[in-house]
Amino acid sequence: MIDDTHDPALTSWVESANDPGTDFPLQNLPFGRFRGASNEPWRIGVAIGDCVLDLAAAGLIDSQDMAALLAQGASRRRALRRALSQGLRHGSAERSRFEAALRPLAQVELGLPCDIGDYSDFYAGIHHATAVGKLMRPDHPLLPNYKWVPIGYHGRASSIVPSGTPIRRPCGQIKPAEAPQPWLAATRRLDYELEMGIVIGPGNALGEPIPIAQAEDHIFGFVLLNDWSARDLQAWEYQPLGPFLAKSFATTISPWIVTLEALAPFRAPYERPAADPQPLPYLDSPHNRAHGALDITLEVWLRTPAMRVPQRLMRSNLRDLYWTVAQLVTHQTVNGCNLRPGDLLGTGTVSGPGEDQGGSLLELTAGGRRPLNLSNGETRTFLQDGDTVILRAYCVREGLRRIGFGECAGTILPAREV
Ligand code: MN
Repeated sequence: MIDDTHDPALTSWVESANDPGTDFPLQNLPFGRFRGASNEPWRIGVAIGDCVLDLAAAGLIDSQDMAALLAQGASRRRALRRALSQGLRHGSAERSRFEAALRPLAQVELGLPCDIGDYSDFYAGIHHATAVGKLMRPDHPLLPNYKWVPIGYHGRASSIVPSGTPIRRPCGQIKPAEAPQPWLAATRRLDYELEMGIVIGPGNALGEPIPIAQAEDHIFGFVLLNDWSARDLQAWEYQPLGPFLAKSFATTISPWIVTLEALAPFRAPYERPAADPQPLPYLDSPHNRAHGALDITLEVWLRTPAMRVPQRLMRSNLRDLYWTVAQLVTHQTVNGCNLRPGDLLGTGTVSGPGEDQGGSLLELTAGGRRPLNLSNGETRTFLQDGDTVILRAYCVREGLRRIGFGECAGTILPAREV
């Protein structure tokens, strides 16, 4: 649903929001939580240019309960977006009230945008699934279920951290194929995964699946998500029940939830190759085929301790997912499992079709066999202590205002002695 809040000609009296390079112009208006000092409670805010608007101080909400805000349906979300857009526009009568509620982003701490009750991670990036599958099964990289059922596993919500939180290199059991038995050690194959996180809005009651026609009403918006992964731990532990300690030591998300409403102009058709099985009826709808995909450019950047500025490692697009976000929500609930406000669904690693478009080092280095040459002469197979990984995302389209997601960053700390 595109309306006047998406008009590319709109400008704000917050001058930094009119900078063509900003992630947070008037057309974006993403939600997050901030505080001025670590002993203060979190407050709900909206990013605008290089500032955050305190929603309660601006008179737009009367509670700091983000779950309650997420639980409100799409019509309330749209009304809030309209009030924000009108108040922040040039010429707004609300200007003085809003101006008093504005804080420079440089002066606040950003936390998790909401309390995350539950977290699952999917595997919807077919280029990732194919590339990783090839490393293990060169002849048939995709398992027979892949094109029928959105594959996922249940992740750990307690270790989801906001961007900027340092990531301690985890220890775990390691057993190379040729070793007679495993030992406990710090991972030597620490990796990232470039993903998007779906933040759930209202959600469903236990036992009541969400039909695909209603799935998008339950999506509040999206954050960047880095599913940090210890590949050597994973290789030894993953059979037969899937990832466990190789993933649960940390997951980083970006601080701003970009709403589905802000992304309305960046929808794209969802197409299956004619030779592939078409989605089962419960995962299919005319709307999903016409508009189910999202045209969002995704990037991974790396800064080693020897670099002054980060280097971009790859670029991909969320459009390339094999399943749409609506299909993931519907599939997660088809058995009656309930989703609650603030639950998080990871898409899975979003790689592009090219060899240089892998969304993890596992892919970019062919399982560690082909080191990556960095621009300053360094090489990497997997992450080293002190390395910083930064995920970025943005939407650009001819005739539209660019919007972005901010950063999802984390720096690797040395392992604790075990
Ligand atoms: Mn993942």
